[in-house]
Amino acid sequence: MFEALPEQGVSGAQILGELGELRRADLPTHGGRLFAYVYDPALDGLDELAQAAYAISAHVNGLDPTAFPSLLAMENALVGAAARLLGGDAQTVGSVTSGGTESLILAVKAARDSRPELATPRLVIPSTAHAAFAKAAHYLRVALDVVPVGADLRADPEAMAAAITADTVLVVGSAPSYAHGVVDPIPRLAAIAAERGVRFHVDACFGGWVLPYLKRLGADLPPFDLSVPGVTSISVDLHKYAYAPKGVSILLHRTEELRLPQYFAFAGWPGYTMINPIVSSTRSGGPIAAAVATLRHIGDAGYLELARSTQDAVSTLAAAVTDTDGVRLFAPPEASVVCLAADPGVDIFVLADELAARGWHTQPQMSFGDLPATIHLTVTAAVAPTAKEFAADLAAAVVATRDRGPAQLPAPLLEAAGALTPEMITPQLVAGLAEGLGLGGGDFTQMAAVNSLLDAVPPALREALLTGFLSLLQRPSQSTE
Ligand SMILES: *Cc1c(COP(=O)(O)O)cnc(C)c1O
Repeated sequence: MFEALPEQGVSGAQILGELGELRRADLPTHGGRLFAYVYDPALDGLDELAQAAYAISAHVNGLDPTAFPSLLAMENALVGAAARLLGGDAQTVGSVTSGGTESLILAVKAARDSRPELATPRLVIPSTAHAAFAKAAHYLRVALDVVPVGADLRADPEAMAAAITADTVLVVGSAPSYAHGVVDPIPRLAAIAAERGVRFHVDACFGGWVLPYLKRLGADLPPFDLSVPGVTSISVDLHKYAYAPKGVSILLHRTEELRLPQYFAFAGWPGYTMINPIVSSTRSGGPIAAAVATLRHIGDAGYLELARSTQDAVSTLAAAVTDTDGVRLFAPPEASVVCLAADPGVDIFVLADELAARGWHTQPQMSFGDLPATIHLTVTAAVAPTAKEFAADLAAAVVATRDRGPAQLPAPLLEAAGALTPEMITPQLVAGLAEGLGLGGGDFTQMAAVNSLLDAVPPALREALLTGFLSLLQRPSQSTE
């Protein structure tokens, strides 16, 4: 590893070479074979355009819009575009945030702070809602009421209604859920919340920029946006299906009054009066300018075409799953996710490794309650040209998976893990476990055994183990000079 603070500065050419070299260890962000983390429209020149726009505004500070009106203008343009796409009207307002998690934290904060009289404000979510709501509840000390979804993996309106109490400040639905890619019954949920006088947030972080286009293409999807009565806020990540570089999401509120408690203001110190609409204070204009460039370059017609490619890719991948003996679709592929489960005799985690060995990087999802472990594919437009190659590789991967049998863990390791509790996890223990599982060398291509172990242990232990492992990875590098 290079020295981040060398004695003497290093030439730009050398540094760029080093960074390029580092990036070679990463999963491929282009090429339509990575089904999580990245969103690729595969449009020639778009990266270069976004980078140039980013560079123009990289040093602009969002802290003070009177000092940098360019940023305010770009933010208002993005919020306006999102409002028009997502059923807003002249009353709609919003904020540009750094990502989906921040948008959700702020939706929860606005709801919490609109009810300052409550000692224990509560948040009602379906069990398929994104983990960021748990994080928001944790950060903001809001109690979390998790309601099991129905057999169709969608929020159950009756059960959600029953979970609402006088202390509930916000009810949530997903459009669609990340794990399974299915849309909750937003109109019914929003009506239930409205009847009880409670705010209702639609988490369209994932799908907010593709669902409207899929609907235009004729997809059979329920109404999910601000046009639905009772929806008080909605979030959409521009760094997902708007294909902007990372660091931009939008939170829309139906009215300015609903947004107001989202703001933080503080004049009680000797420095500048701080008025922050979002979590960060100083922030770069780079991601915002890059998002503006991306939206303007692709345009509405472009997004419709990208949604068409995405839809084609989803159909091709879903058909491959349906036609392959040993795997099955776990959720209806109604939006831009293909989620598959394995039949007995096919270990889902081994399958994920076998797919990776064939160049398809998928996202394994652990079992949860009654739900089995699954493989998640986030499908973007870049997948369309490669999708037809998937069927043959999936079939071969399933055969190889059957041949290999379930992931084998050394019996003593399994036994030891079975006796662990979260309180027992120490850095030493995690380091030993990582070594025993072959993770010491930084090679994460054979993950079936690790995933099986993590899947077998209770969620709280999984959290503790992975926290320990991440902490193990995050060690300052030693000086090389
Ligand atoms: C990605 C996602 C989030 C969180 O967004 P980040 O940008 O990763 O912080 C929230 N909700 C859903 C449905 C998502 O897919």
